[in-house]
Amino acid sequence: AKTEGKAQIAIYTEDLDEGRLRRLEIEGQIGSGLGAEEFDVVYQPIIDAVSGAIVSAEALLRWPRRAQGALSPDEFIEVAEATGQIHPLGLYVLERACREIRPLGELCLSVNVSPAQFRHPGFERQVLSILERTGFPAHRLQLEMTESYLLANPGLAIKATEALKSAGIALALDDFGTGFTSIHYLKSYGFTHIKIDKSLLTGLEAGNKAAMLVEGAITLANALDMFVIAEGVEREAQAEVLRAIGCHEMQGYLFSKPVPLAEFMALQQRMKRQ
Ligand code: C2E
Ligand code: CA
Ligand code: CA
Ligand code: CA
Repeated sequence: AKTEGKAQIAIYTEDLDEGRLRRLEIEGQIGSGLGAEEFDVVYQPIIDAVSGAIVSAEALLRWPRRAQGALSPDEFIEVAEATGQIHPLGLYVLERACREIRPLGELCLSVNVSPAQFRHPGFERQVLSILERTGFPAHRLQLEMTESYLLANPGLAIKATEALKSAGIALALDDFGTGFTSIHYLKSYGFTHIKIDKSLLTGLEAGNKAAMLVEGAITLANALDMFVIAEGVEREAQAEVLRAIGCHEMQGYLFSKPVPLAEFMALQQRMKRQ
């Protein structure tokens, strides 16, 4: 039994070192990747539930890493958050998306922001100067954040977002339904939109428990003048239920997966003609 224990410890430390090595490797590659503009931005349409028109685009980072193969954003963003590289990376996505989406007309733009970015001194100022440089209107920009940020910095959260809100930027709570935050609380933090996490849509059927939960969230959001976006809509049946219970906007593979800019523009043209 003693030797077994030793062997397990040996395996455990080996795993740890491998994990750390991999992170170090990714950290170095993010640094050179940013310099070489290796990162791509794809866009996923957000659809008005009533008219079916594309009203917004969510920008999502992609990293093809020509040599070693693509790495998922969930994986490299975690490393970038740990190393602080999320600051330049986050500003890169924001600036590129503002520049690329601005010529597309009345479209809104949604960009993900990591909790650490809000804590970075000067973040608000940098966002506003990107809007100035790119000419993207503040009232059409929406920043998406998860509630982990609010939980970690209840006081700071209000302060950091005040300048952004007063500039007219919308704030969306991403992945709603995965934590414990109440909608009332969100309103007091200045959120204008909530994005219902795809995990809540899995078993969505007319009249069932999942549908009642989502409907409850929509009713409360309506009472507080907030908008509800359902994400991860994959089936027409889900869209039907969501429309019936008054969900404002939808996003998911049913409409389109995230696509490169040129494809997004073609999609927008096609849907305009419909
Ligand atoms: P998220 O912000 O919750 O983004 C939604 C994720 O769901 C995206 O994964 C999207 O491709 C995927 N998705 C969209 N529609 C469907 C659907 O119908 N079914 C399913 N199964 N999935 C769908 P992606 O692009 O891999 O991004 C993963 C996460 O990485 C994002 O989750 C976000 O937290 C983070 N992320 C991506 N880009 C950025 C960024 O520029 N900055 C920051 N801070 N985080 C980012
Ligand atoms: Ca998001
Ligand atoms: Ca989400
Ligand atoms: Ca997510």
